[in-house]
This record gives sequence, structure tokens and C-alpha cells, in this order.
Amino acid sequence: MFLPQEIIRRKRNGETLSAAEIAWFVQGIRDESISEGQIGAFAMAVFFQGMSLDERVALTTAMRDSGDCMTWPDMPGPVLDKHSTGGVGDVVSLMLGPMVAACGGYVPMISGRGLGHTGGTLDKFESIPGYDTFPDNARFDRIVREVGVAIIGQTGNLAPADKRFYGIRDVTATVESIDLITASILSKKLAEGLDALVMDVKVGSGAFMPDYDQSKALAESIVKVANGAGVRTTALLTDMNQVLARSAGNAVEMAEAVAYLRGDTRDPVLHEVNLALCAEMLVSGGLAKNTDQARDALQSSLDSGAALERFDRMVSALGGPSDFSEKADEYLPKAPIIKAISAERDGIVQPMAVRDIGLAVVALGGGRTRADQRIDHAVGLTDIVKPGTTVKAGDTLAVAHVRNDEQFDDARERLRRAIPVGDEAAKALAPIYERITE
Ligand code: URA
Repeated sequence: MFLPQEIIRRKRNGETLSAAEIAWFVQGIRDESISEGQIGAFAMAVFFQGMSLDERVALTTAMRDSGDCMTWPDMPGPVLDKHSTGGVGDVVSLMLGPMVAACGGYVPMISGRGLGHTGGTLDKFESIPGYDTFPDNARFDRIVREVGVAIIGQTGNLAPADKRFYGIRDVTATVESIDLITASILSKKLAEGLDALVMDVKVGSGAFMPDYDQSKALAESIVKVANGAGVRTTALLTDMNQVLARSAGNAVEMAEAVAYLRGDTRDPVLHEVNLALCAEMLVSGGLAKNTDQARDALQSSLDSGAALERFDRMVSALGGPSDFSEKADEYLPKAPIIKAISAERDGIVQPMAVRDIGLAVVALGGGRTRADQRIDHAVGLTDIVKPGTTVKAGDTLAVAHVRNDEQFDDARERLRRAIPVGDEAAKALAPIYERITE
């Protein structure tokens, strides 16, 4: 038995907490025996004093164990997943899960809704008619075993201590602590019962944490803590100074993912980031000796149609149409007005304000300003240009999918501000900056 005020005081004074103290405090967060004020004070103490690696591992595992933890006995292959810190046009999960499954991995992916300016995988899947994002545990387990991949939403009992803790951090200016972010993200991912994980930590104007050094510190912290908690984990620092795919929104990103899997169109930057993340998973999971071998296997899963087949089986097993990828265009909701936003002058597309592009999608109704809001799956942007592209006045910067003329005018104004066209020779951006291992 500990006293919450003593734990807070010790952390405030920069002392190191024991695993038992941390586990006890997390249990108090979970059962509400510790007050909001005490949790806020604890978060602020951690914010200023930080936590050692052992403390972070203890916080992560205690939050993971505050709810249901999945187990995968007798699985014929490794259980693998990826987590991204979130971006705009980050459609990777939609293809990565089926591709890794086609290469022998098992991917029980618990995805989230859009947060702030970033899109959410769960929202994208909800644009498929009939797709059940909240199957019961037995169905989820069966689909992962039979198809190799199931992408669903987070039920109430996954790391519930994090849910309460995060809500309090959000209103006490303590979200931006690398120690707390590490524990928050990993508590949910590690509850999936993984053998290996890859983290995609975004860097740049559309990233949750735009600063390079901070993003790198977060990636290093996550890699250390996840490995410390027994899950083989690597991280890639990837660029978010450009919209990753060519589209941003829900149905429009789903359509782009289907086009990618079918081989109709594959944006090279998106392809590179996707292959690199998938390859990390195959190597960490022991399904490939090295990244070259992994990339060959992944490319074959695309070329042979095996990844597309896994995607279709997952969609149909979760209640979506059995011919979804064949007729995605007919099944996905469409906005009534689809119209190009053009450049006002000749020049070169400069580095973009990617966060503002995400906010333009939110303003259209494609994202939320309150957690309980319904979203419009049909609206969004497609054909978004990449930095470094030479354009003439009148060329397309992006195509807006909107409900009415006012929305179009608003999106045009936002996009023209967020995608500057200038005279400087802007370089095409590297998709991947660094790989972080233990
Ligand atoms: N995402 C999370 O899940 N938790 C954080 O603390 C920050 C981002």
C-alpha cells in the first residue's frame, strides 16, 4: 500500500519510482481510487523530471495490463503489427496488413480514429458498406487466424488506464512528454500480444511532433521500452512534409489503397515507405533474412495478387462486399462535386503546410473537431501534388471532393495557402530519414 501524494512527491523531486509503486498508481488510475488532480500532478511531475527506462517499461506494462491482453497460442507464424504516430494521407496500414499476411505474418491490427489534423485507419474502413469495425473477440481471433489480418477498432477494455490518463493529460498540458507518449502508445499496441512491432514515427509539418530531434527521441524511447517489454521493435523516421499518398480523406484514401493493391497506380513515395515498414516486420518476425529478401517477397505479394486477395478476404470476413476491390468505385460513397483546385501562377511546388491540408479535410467534415462527431466519409482531396513539382498557372494542385460550392471555395483557399508555388528549386523529399534499432 502506497500513498499517492508520496509517489507524486518523490517523482516531483526527481527520484526514481519502483515498478511496484508505478503499478499501484496505474491500478488507482484504472479503478478511479486516485483523483484527477493527483493524476494531473503526477503527469506534470513526469513531464518535468522524466522517467528512467525501467520506470517507462513499468508504466507501459502496468497500463497494458490494466485491461484485456490478447494471446495467440499455436499460431503458425509470427504475430506482427505497425503503429504510426499519424499523418495526412497515411494510408499505409490498409495495404501493409494484407501484404504482411500474404508473406506469412499474422496482423491483429487495432486501429484508431482520426486525431486532430491526422486521419484514422478505422474511419477509412468505415467507408466500406457493411464492414464491422467492432467484431467480438472470437470473430476477430478467427479472422486473424484464417485470413492472416484483421483491421478493427479499439474496444473499451484495451488499456483502460491509458484512456483515463490520456484524457487528463489532454487537459493538463502534459501530452507532450516523451515518457508518457511512449507508455501510452505502447500500452495499447503491446496488449495485442505481438511478437514484433515496427513504429513509423513521422517528422515534419504534418507530424504530431514536427521537430526532428524530438521525433527521434520518441522513436528511440519507443524502441527501447518495447524491446524492454519483450517485443522486438524497430522504428523508421519518415517524412511528413508532404501528404504521403496522393489523397487525404476516408473513401478517397480507401480507393487509393485499392488502386495500389490492384497495381493501377502506386505513388513512389508511398510505395517506398510502405515497403520499408513491411520489410521491418518480416525481418523482425523471422520471415525474411534481410530487408532485400523481405522486399522481394513483398513485391511478389503485390505482383501475384496475393496481397489483394488477403485484403478482399478480410473485407468480406468482416461483413463488407465480397467483390469490394473489383467494384470499389461503386461501393464507396462519393461527394457530389469533384473539382480541381488550380495553381494561380507558374512555378515550383514548395514545402507544404501539411497540417493545414489535414485541417482542410477536417473542415470539409472528413475529420472531427469533437470526439463524438460523425464524419462525412465521401469528402476529401485527391491528386495532391508533391513538393518539387513544376506547375503552370491553371494546373491542378489537388482535386476537391465536396458537398457544395462553399466547401469548395473554403478548400481552395486553404489549399492554395498550404501548397505554395514559388521560384525556389524545392528538392523532392526523402521518404525515410533514419532507422532506429536498439
Ligand atoms: N497517441 C497516443 O496514443 N498517446 C499519446 O500520448 C500521444 C499520441
